[in-house]
Amino acid sequence: MTLPLTRRRALLALPLAASLPLAAPRRALSATTRPDPALLRGRVAELIGRGDARLDSLSLPQNLAYAGTRPLAIARCAEPAHVASAITWAQENRVPFVLRSGGHSYAGCSVTDGLLVDMRPMSTIRVARDGAVTLGGGVLNHDVYAALRAHELMVTHGRCGGVGASAFLMGGGIGFAMRDRGMGCDAVRAVSLVLADGTEVRATEGDELFWAVRGGGGGNFGAATQWTLAPFPAEPVTLFDLRWRDADPALFLALARALEAAPDRLGSKVTAFAPDRRHGGVPRLTLLGQIRGPRDEAMAILGPVLRMRPATGRVETMAYWDAQALLSEEGEPARYRETSRFTGHVPEALAEEAFRRLRTWPGTSGEALFKMFQVGGRIRAKAPGDTAYVHRDAEWLTGTEITWGAADSPARVEAAMGWQRAFHWASDALADAPGGSFQNFVDPGLEDPAEAYYGANRQRLAALRARLDPNGAFAPPRRQGIA
Ligand SMILES: Cc1cc2nc3c(=O)[nH]c(=O)nc-3n(C[C@H](O)[C@H](O)[C@H](O)COP(=O)(O)OP(=O)(O)OC[C@H]3O[C@@H](n4cnc5c(N)ncnc54)[C@H](O)[C@@H]3O)c2cc1C
Repeated sequence: MTLPLTRRRALLALPLAASLPLAAPRRALSATTRPDPALLRGRVAELIGRGDARLDSLSLPQNLAYAGTRPLAIARCAEPAHVASAITWAQENRVPFVLRSGGHSYAGCSVTDGLLVDMRPMSTIRVARDGAVTLGGGVLNHDVYAALRAHELMVTHGRCGGVGASAFLMGGGIGFAMRDRGMGCDAVRAVSLVLADGTEVRATEGDELFWAVRGGGGGNFGAATQWTLAPFPAEPVTLFDLRWRDADPALFLALARALEAAPDRLGSKVTAFAPDRRHGGVPRLTLLGQIRGPRDEAMAILGPVLRMRPATGRVETMAYWDAQALLSEEGEPARYRETSRFTGHVPEALAEEAFRRLRTWPGTSGEALFKMFQVGGRIRAKAPGDTAYVHRDAEWLTGTEITWGAADSPARVEAAMGWQRAFHWASDALADAPGGSFQNFVDPGLEDPAEAYYGANRQRLAALRARLDPNGAFAPPRRQGIA
């Protein structure tokens, strides 16, 4: 196989027999064919098998809707050689495997009844004198934030510290700073991955794999073991958190238009909640975000929004990481499902339809909402084909979110999901170009996920995947996959 990459070295702790069928077709495990993962002991940092009390807690996904599946074993990996050993053992023994970092896949893509390859022990973070940040492949975002804060640096990042940095970056990575600083993946300067054949490669600008990891999705090409990022200075921001009661489409649209007119230094999220008795039975609306730069400029930018008379609110200028501490949202494990849809300017009909649908929410013990992240700005500094992250031309990323609890009946959950799917297809029809869904918000209900996530980049990604992983060893569930 010829790769436009610097192939560093084979990493296997044990040599691979040349004749081994590397990645036999996946199949479900049965009691009679179950291989013994104990053979991996000594070749990974730690092996946790069935019977070990920690298996349940370490394998629990953040979305509890997928908590019913337990792995055969967990291979904890502290260095690339461990990852190579784990995935090679899995392929030799025809055991399905998945990589796990933060476990925050919306659709349980890091859940398996085979081998869970736990990347979390690869958690080293270094900040060089020139500011370049090197991250281990299993680092969680809250550790990245702590390291950046200590050096007064930042990159585009999300609000939940429990998310794994690797998959966040591989899906593009959105956050309040993205219109100002580009997508999270735009700060990547180099990445190392262990591929299906157990070798580790380092990819940089000009390499096809470097193109692919910036938007091609977690788990699709190999196990990311190290990242190098070029961060920005962490400058003060004005945080805004404004709330309205009894909102309507006119307010929603007016807000969207005011935000669209704002400079790229503003990042925002608008959320409209389905009416619920706990909040007076009226649709609530929130606007959350930040603006980089001096307070007087921020107040001038926010003027049109503040004139829309929020019921409550907070607008405060502060040091960058102090603001992030207030904006952070540690998603506790819960049962939920999300949809997403990129659009240009928000059509009036979409706002009308969203509020009409919110009022018909059938209800669970959780909640339902329609949200819009403002994109555009510096995200457009790259063209859709410059990296695998194809959604560069959009103005907004819209979507619905529903949550429910363990006590909700299956029929109630099904009704809620039906409502959400109908909402998604209605907004799909009403949204403005360019369309598509966000690969970091994996949606199991999409008919053609590869098209929705990768669009015009789909064929190029599939060709690379076929070259690097011809037998489909890294075969994430179809709901997340490329082909
Ligand atoms: C509460 C919450 C908040 C979120 N906020 C944001 C946000 O603000 N912005 C945003 O862009 N996204 C956000 N996300 C989405 C998140 O970025 C994706 O779900 C991401 O894939 C989660 O990564 P993880 O490591 O936590 O999850 P995991 O479930 O561990 O992994 C997700 C996928 O990536 C693979 N993977 C894991 N580690 C590696 C690795 N080292 N190398 C290669 N593949 C790997 C897994 O096999 C799986 O297929 C949020 C998700 C949640 C649940």
